[in-house]
Amino acid sequence: MKKQPALFLFFLCILLASATAQNPELGKQQKEDWAETNLTVHDELKIWKKCYPDVGFKLEWDRKVADWKIIVSNYKKSQEYYWCKGKYLPYEEIKNQDKYYRVITRYENRVLDPADFSPEFTEQIRQFSEKRKTGKVSSKFIFCAIYDDQTRLSTEQHIKKINFLGKTVNVHEYLRPKLAQVEKRIYEIKDKDPEVQKFLADLYSTEAYNWRQIRDVNTRSFHSYGIAIDILPKMWGKKIIYWGFEKNNGNKDWMLIPLKDRWMPPKAVIQIFYEEGFLWGGTWAVWDNMHFEYHPELMQISQ
Ligand SMILES: [Zn+2]
Repeated sequence: MKKQPALFLFFLCILLASATAQNPELGKQQKEDWAETNLTVHDELKIWKKCYPDVGFKLEWDRKVADWKIIVSNYKKSQEYYWCKGKYLPYEEIKNQDKYYRVITRYENRVLDPADFSPEFTEQIRQFSEKRKTGKVSSKFIFCAIYDDQTRLSTEQHIKKINFLGKTVNVHEYLRPKLAQVEKRIYEIKDKDPEVQKFLADLYSTEAYNWRQIRDVNTRSFHSYGIAIDILPKMWGKKIIYWGFEKNNGNKDWMLIPLKDRWMPPKAVIQIFYEEGFLWGGTWAVWDNMHFEYHPELMQISQ
């Protein structure tokens, strides 16, 4: 729901932390390096072009800045960003580049099971969730050019009401064919998968576009771009659906809530979304189990 911009990155860091929980000398830097890709600007350009074939991506070397400039063109507009080792920043943000994570990082389509958490790891998640106001954020500037989402006005020119899984939802028009493909594949398996049938029967609403600032992070949610979608079951399936609600209710150990007590879409549904370029918020350490987000560029380097 309230998409946390740096969360998928954090999740990636967390994965390494999880894998190396027995090795306390591994420092923060090494954990962050796990999400690193060592991709060059040329590698990344190939990924952008493959994932967003309707969008123009042009590369120029800027001698004055001594960095690559990427010109992104879509909807008859162009924006320029500096590569900044994968952060894609407008000129005026180059000086603040330490504030941002790079855009294309690793993503793993796997749920973290609190049954495996060490006390140290649990504490890391807790601290991360509390430091989000001041921590690094993911750089989203390039998506403003891809989706023409510089302002609320330009964004809303591309927001369309569509039918998805029997509900109506307002999404960026770019996602219309992507979600149609997700829906088609879900419908194809529903007759032979009772879990998927139940998921569809229990669906209460789908919500996507919502212009809003995230309360505690200094950047916009991908819901504000119309490229994140929440899928809500009736009465939340009588389970817990989002870490933030639990935290706000005073549960300090929200990260330890067993997986069986959290509502989850069927694995087959998560997999279809994933294969069509959508990551699922249930894989984040700060889990948001209703939330899917279109990021095909991350799937290109997933494991
Ligand atoms: Zn959401």
